[in-house]
Amino acid sequence: MKRTKKKTIALIAHDNKKSEIVNWALKNKATLEKFDLCGTGTTAKLIAEATDLNVKRYLSGPLGGDQQIGAKVAEGKIDMVIFFWDPLESQPHDPDVKALLRIAVVYDIPISTNRASADYMIHSTFLNN
Ligand code: PGA
Repeated sequence: MKRTKKKTIALIAHDNKKSEIVNWALKNKATLEKFDLCGTGTTAKLIAEATDLNVKRYLSGPLGGDQQIGAKVAEGKIDMVIFFWDPLESQPHDPDVKALLRIAVVYDIPISTNRASADYMIHSTFLNN
């Protein structure tokens, strides 16, 4: 019997987008529970509390969480990143955010940067491949 490994989705939201990603995760819980989930510290905690989904927690974004997720992308251990990014506020860890976007492009990993693109990705037929 062929066993296929579950795909892993990373979830990240900047502070002003946290409630939006939690609502998005609640809405898409039935799909998300088919995946291994991880996220930056606070985002992962809030989503896990609201949805009861198991979300592995990396460090908080400003403390290196985005870099940890970028490293996992480079290792081939993360298949997709849902990132609710705040374009209206500067982030202390902006270089880390840019690095994560870059590494996702290098490894051709789907990465959303807003709710609309997250919706497209979570409903994609590619999710099952
Ligand atoms: P956080 O990090 O989930 O720990 O708040 C997100 C970020 O700002 O990159």
